[in-house]
Amino acid sequence: MRNINPFESAKKKLDIAAKVIGLAPNTLEYLKKVERSLIVSMPVVMDDGRLEIFEGFRVHHSTLRGPAKGGLRYSPLVSLDEIKALAFLMTFKTSLLGLPLGGSKGGIRVDPKKLSQDELRKLTRRYTSEILNMIGPDIDILAPDMNTGEQEMAWIMDTYSMNKGRSIPGVVTGKPIEIGGTVGRTDAPGTGMYYILQSLCERQNFNLTSSTIAIQGFGKVGSVVAQILSSVGCKIIAITDSVGGVFSNKGLNINKMISWKQQGNLLKNYKDEDVGIITNEELFRTPCDILVPAATENQIFSGNAGDIDCKIILEGANSPTTSQADTILNEKGILVIPDILANAGGLCVSYFEYIQDIQSYFWNLERVNSEMKRILLRAFESVINLSDGKSISYRTAAYAIGAERLARAHELRGLFP
Ligand code: GLU
Repeated sequence: MRNINPFESAKKKLDIAAKVIGLAPNTLEYLKKVERSLIVSMPVVMDDGRLEIFEGFRVHHSTLRGPAKGGLRYSPLVSLDEIKALAFLMTFKTSLLGLPLGGSKGGIRVDPKKLSQDELRKLTRRYTSEILNMIGPDIDILAPDMNTGEQEMAWIMDTYSMNKGRSIPGVVTGKPIEIGGTVGRTDAPGTGMYYILQSLCERQNFNLTSSTIAIQGFGKVGSVVAQILSSVGCKIIAITDSVGGVFSNKGLNINKMISWKQQGNLLKNYKDEDVGIITNEELFRTPCDILVPAATENQIFSGNAGDIDCKIILEGANSPTTSQADTILNEKGILVIPDILANAGGLCVSYFEYIQDIQSYFWNLERVNSEMKRILLRAFESVINLSDGKSISYRTAAYAIGAERLARAHELRGLFP
């Protein structure tokens, strides 16, 4: 089943981890609820004079370990349950990395490709104004996610700052460098994925540089990881965007494809020697060493997990694998590096941006990347140790580590009143 409720699916992954660590039933119930969610409407006068009303959400799943942290996505498929699931994931991501933050997420149901720049600006500013009381550097810090980037973050920062009467860069991360952003944030999810993969391959005596790779998604995560992996010699044999893509057994020229995409073209229309067209369904059946789902949720589900023919899955997207598919992949002996670890480089560098903003002191790229590597590999090490010790999957180990830290915070703080 593919249309599985994303929040239910996320909670199932925690249930499995809770059993392994014997999480107290009260704590488990507590972690399965979101602290607060807000539904907002944004009226926007469109360029043609029509009034359109958009719906948006902001969810704080947990602030047990610190202010909430999480991205904002624009997509026609956004729903409250999706945003709850993604906020829940952020809580476990921040906890697994040992960062003093909680988990949140926001979304607006909109196809941003259909909006002009001016319409997007009005929508983003109005959304920020609607959720104003729920955000702030000590409350909830936003960041880019699907279909949002530096420009949206700049508008949010400005709207928030105008309302507060002073400049407050720490309300968002993923901002342009000129207004308090950090170096290395844009490439961080892809760079972090590479650090983790490299470390795994070293441990497994697996030659990464001669491996074959298939990637679903050619956005902020997929294109960066494709570029890094091809630059170290890996053969990217298949890559798709939302409407399909291309394959080549000889390996694709990623730099050429990035410029093709930047010119506004679809991947499937890309033509080159030895390059064929491939659908998203076919991508998941392509035999390869490493499969990278870097698009969206529930792409690996019970209907296609059995056909997957690879050794490692590196989850670039959030929640690309359903819990049913997880069981199938485990039975097949495929090693899955879970989203909350694999793509956590983005969050990690967001945290660095946040502390740089607070201190008004900015780091260079070398420091950003080496600190990110240290934090990600520390988390990976703890996942491997628990996974080996208890013979559980990396995902279950990652959730268990996150859950244990949350449980401890819950115990120490107690319940109010
Ligand atoms: N949207 C990204 C994620 O899902 C980044 C979140 C952040 O940087 O706060 O991890």
